[in-house]
Amino acid sequence: MIPTQKTDRTILLRSSRPSIRILAAINDLHAELSGNTEGEVAAYIPELARVDPGTFAISVVTCEGEVFSVGDADTGFTLQSIANPFMYGMALDQLGRSAVERAVGVEPTGNPYHAVVLERGTNRPMNPLVNAGAIAIAGLLPGHDPTDRLNRALEAIALHIGERPAIDMGVFISESSTADRNRAIAYLMRNFGRLGGDLDETLDLYFQMCSITVNTVQLATMAATLANAGVNPRTSTRAISPVSLRDVLTVMFTCGLYEQSGRWAYRVGIPAKSGVSGGFMAVVPGRLGVAVYSPRLNTGGNSVRGIRVCEALSTQLGLHVFRNAEQRRTLE
Ligand code: GLN
Repeated sequence: MIPTQKTDRTILLRSSRPSIRILAAINDLHAELSGNTEGEVAAYIPELARVDPGTFAISVVTCEGEVFSVGDADTGFTLQSIANPFMYGMALDQLGRSAVERAVGVEPTGNPYHAVVLERGTNRPMNPLVNAGAIAIAGLLPGHDPTDRLNRALEAIALHIGERPAIDMGVFISESSTADRNRAIAYLMRNFGRLGGDLDETLDLYFQMCSITVNTVQLATMAATLANAGVNPRTSTRAISPVSLRDVLTVMFTCGLYEQSGRWAYRVGIPAKSGVSGGFMAVVPGRLGVAVYSPRLNTGGNSVRGIRVCEALSTQLGLHVFRNAEQRRTLE
C-alpha cells in the first residue's frame, strides 16, 4: 500500500531503491492525472468510440522483470499503431535491413498518421510507423498464405509479451469495412510499384495487427523487451535481434508520435509509440518499459495522459537520453 500524503510521496520519490521510486511516481501521477479530461476518444469506428473515456492505467516493467501497475491494468485495448514498430522489427529480422530500406524510409513525416503521402523522389512511405509504412511492411512479411503470415506475426508479438495475444474481431471487422483511406494509401503505393502481392490480404494483415488486444502489463512487457536488448525480461526469451532493435528504437525516437515526434523527443527524450486506441508505450533502454492506457487523444491522435505520464516520469526519474549529470541521479 502506497501512502498518499504528499510528504510521504516526497520521501518515497527520494528513496534509494529504484523500485520504490518508480511505484511512488506512477501512483502519484495516476492520482494527479485522473482528473484530467482533455482530449477526445477516437471515433472513426464505433468500437473505439464506445470505450470508457475515463479508463486509466499505468504499468512499468523493468529489465529485471519487476512489474508495477496502477489503475485499470486489467483492461484490454487494441494496439493500433503500436503494432507498427513490432512489425518493422519482424521485417528487419526476417528480410534484412537492405530489403526493408528499399521499401520504407526513416524520415519523420510532419504529417498525421493517415496522410496519403509518400516520400518525394523515392515514392516509398516515409517511415514504418505511420499507416503507409506499416501497410508496406505488412506487404513484406513472409508466409505461405494469409493464415501463415498472421500466425508468424502473432508468434513474434507473443515473444515480446510472453503469451499469444488475441485479436479483437469487432475492431478488425470495423477497421476493414471503413478503410477507404488506408485503401487509398495502399493503391497509391501499388501505383508506384511500392506494394506487391494481394492488396486486400496485406490490408487485412495490417488491420489484424492493429486489432491485437493487450492490457498495460502486457504492453509494458513488450516495451521492456525492447528496453532489455530484445530479450523479454519476464521469460528470458529473445524476441528481436540487437541489430534490428537499434533501428526500431531509432525510428520510435524520431517518428513514434507522428507529427508530434519532434516535440516528444525534445520534451521527453525516449523512444515511444502511440496508437489511436489510447495505448502508449515508451522504452528506456537498459532500464524499463512504460505502458499507459488512457483513450482520450490530443489532436495528433496521441493519448493525452500517456504523454503527461511519460513527460513527468522523464523529469522525475531523469530519463531523457540527453539528460545532464545533474539530472542523471534517479534510477542509478
Ligand atoms: N487502425 C488505425 C488506422 O489504420 C491505426 C492508426 C493509429 O493508431 N494511429 O487508421
